[in-house]
Amino acid sequence: VPVVAVVGRPNVGKSMLVNRIIGRREAVVQDLPGVTRDRVSYDAEWNGRQFVIVDTGGWAPDAKGMAAQIAEQAELAIAAADVVLFVVDAHVGTQDIDEAVVQVLRRSKKPVVLAANKVDDQRQEADAAAMWNLGLGEPHPVSAMHGRGTGDLLDALLDALPDAPAFAEQEIGGPRRVAIIGRPNVGKSSLLNRVAKANRVVVDNVAGTTVDPVDELVQVGPITYRFIDTAGLRRRVKEASGHEYYASLRTQGAIERAEVCVVVLDASETISDQDLRILTMVEEAGKALVIAYNKWDLTDEERRHYLNREIEQDIRAFAWAPSVNISALTGRNVDRLSVAIEQALDGWETRISTGKLNAFLGRLAAAHPHPVRSGKQPRILFGTQAQNCPPTFALFTSGQFDPQYVRFVERRLREDFGFVGSPVHVEVRARE
Ligand code: GDP
Repeated sequence: VPVVAVVGRPNVGKSMLVNRIIGRREAVVQDLPGVTRDRVSYDAEWNGRQFVIVDTGGWAPDAKGMAAQIAEQAELAIAAADVVLFVVDAHVGTQDIDEAVVQVLRRSKKPVVLAANKVDDQRQEADAAAMWNLGLGEPHPVSAMHGRGTGDLLDALLDALPDAPAFAEQEIGGPRRVAIIGRPNVGKSSLLNRVAKANRVVVDNVAGTTVDPVDELVQVGPITYRFIDTAGLRRRVKEASGHEYYASLRTQGAIERAEVCVVVLDASETISDQDLRILTMVEEAGKALVIAYNKWDLTDEERRHYLNREIEQDIRAFAWAPSVNISALTGRNVDRLSVAIEQALDGWETRISTGKLNAFLGRLAAAHPHPVRSGKQPRILFGTQAQNCPPTFALFTSGQFDPQYVRFVERRLREDFGFVGSPVHVEVRARE
């Protein structure tokens, strides 16, 4: 789902405009300096197109000066966004802070839609026209308060959204799309640097591919990988309020675009809930998964002992993912990463023929039939692999199946066919 970030200095009416767009009149939060809001993102829809709208109103004042802070907030939001809705106050006109944000916008090269707010009636439209001087294209006059012009603004916003979900960029036979993800400070940037240094970074466009400026192409042996959304890893966005929120938005975006995710964990530290959340995000998105235990150079025997226990307990649900113990610092095992990536992609792409699948299901049902429920024996009539990437199976059954039995089938499928590094989905279509 595309992300629209709403950016602008305080008191221009961002929150009111957001409320307008999501169709809510209540809960207008006053745009007062120092008011930090918990919730900043909302699901929105216009003309049947869905998007997420992020309100960047909240910030915590500190010694840094307001312009710098707002520019920083804006930078985080802009990095995570597909389109930026830049709101200015047509009444007051542009101010230094607006200029600071404009510079961030220019550098980001993201599409910008300019809203000149507080144009409550026709007579004030001249004020909006003055906003052409920002050099961001046509100012759209709106009144968040009265709703005037918001329809046209939303039309302009939709026009600026990326045409199709990022999936459209999937090129058959093109470079594999890899996302390096993980919580802050686990060593993602260091790992990317290591991989780039040890291999050839492809700067020219590979025939038939267009490289998104946030991605990097790296040739490892005979294989070219496209590392997704490396801009954030290369140019580390400074800590700021809301940093984590934007980081997770970016992570989500990177997962969606990737075919395979390398989740980096810090082997020298206890595995955290945040680590598990990121692993779960990958599984739920149905992407291939590799786990990299980084900072191996910092682990001693005792730590490795505890790590093994954590892996057995907390990471057990991801035991299907190939893992590598690496050190981005020393370079240890970093060359094995591509082996694990290839393995995971193989598992992800696996296709099982219908004949083989049904022979397997027949054996399974004979040895371990579904428990009898209210006097009836639920049966698998027929199974087929509906999809790969990730392998997805449809079981046509007589009678409803227990979720527990479905998970059992999933486990057995893995045992027989592998699917290393890939989530496996089993869907039951019951015929009563
Ligand atoms: P990111 O936030 O995940 O991109 O993490 P960074 O790559 O910025 O690394 C965070 C810190 O951990 C930096 O100080 C790195 O030098 C350090 N670091 C990264 N990888 C390793 C490693 O394998 N071993 C050690 N000892 N330190 C590492």
